[in-house]
Amino acid sequence: PYDMLVVGGGPAGAAAAIYAARKGIRTGVVAERFGGQVSDTMAIENFISVKATDGPKLVAGLEQHVLDYDVDLMKLQKAVRLEKKEFIEIELENGAILKSKSVVLATGARWREMNVPGEQEYRGKGVAYCPHCDGPLFKGKKTAVIGGGNSGIEAAIDLAGLVEHVTVLEFSDTLRADDVLVKKANSLPNVTIIKNAMTTEVIGDGQKVIGLKYTDRLTDESHLVDVAGIFVQIGLVPNSEFLKDTLELTNRGEIVINAHGETSIPGVFAAGDVTTTPYKQIIISMGGGATAALGAFDYLIRH
Ligand code: FAD
Repeated sequence: PYDMLVVGGGPAGAAAAIYAARKGIRTGVVAERFGGQVSDTMAIENFISVKATDGPKLVAGLEQHVLDYDVDLMKLQKAVRLEKKEFIEIELENGAILKSKSVVLATGARWREMNVPGEQEYRGKGVAYCPHCDGPLFKGKKTAVIGGGNSGIEAAIDLAGLVEHVTVLEFSDTLRADDVLVKKANSLPNVTIIKNAMTTEVIGDGQKVIGLKYTDRLTDESHLVDVAGIFVQIGLVPNSEFLKDTLELTNRGEIVINAHGETSIPGVFAAGDVTTTPYKQIIISMGGGATAALGAFDYLIRH
């Protein structure tokens, strides 16, 4: 068996693998797509000490760093089941079963998409999912936020300090965000909130976003909003489906962890966007991966 098996090859999984391997223990990594969400990222400007980089570059760096150590890297492999027997077993989609004394789950998350024409075409060219990451790219420009939940209204308040104007489009007739956030957003002169708005299309000029179309669900009228950026804030979905009924998840599917990265199963640790850790960012995931690996190592030396 492995001493530590890491499931996931994003920043959290890579960090966990490096921390594990540096302890001289038998380490494996199973990753469906090595690099994770970072592979889809164009500009990265908040990876501290590196002023600017891009996703593919950072992914190449992660892989090189992992492979500098004696780590079994199993790419293009998907975990479908976890079970604790004598060892912790991870079953892969191809039927193989990997055994390990400890496991770090770092399967990340995915942003829920609008699924409207133009969204994929202009992803990274005006269509964005992370205000902490991409907000400053739209300084002084008009933007829209899709979604009136907590993350949407937080994004609107955040962006209002950077951009010229923010239009929030909420599908239903009420905002699901906390009252204090709604009050704050309503008090800002450059934020407009439109309810009953169904976004129907992202409009671009071939290079970048220039607007979006929405339908007023009460009147059925179509409207055009002129924006350079669209922040889609309709949910971040943790990749934890295969763990349902196995360990403790929140009602949103996040793996519940404590400050040491421990989950509800002894010997199983977790890190990054798939967990209850607040603020989903590269640097935070890497810190989480390091914490989970050190937590798992602590567990190993006691068992
Ligand atoms: P992920 O990066 O999601 O990696 C998860 C890994 O697990 C992948 O390798 C995946 O293939 C694998 N996996 C999933 N399920 C399974 C399974 N069942 N079996 C095996 N493997 C599995 N953050 C910043 O700090 N700065 C930015 O500028 C920035 N820009 C972003 C731009 C975009 C478009 C997106 C989508 C995100 C951005 N983020 C940014 C957020 C950042 O990418 C994430 O916080 C970070 O990647 C999370 O790392 P993670 O390792 O937890 O998960």
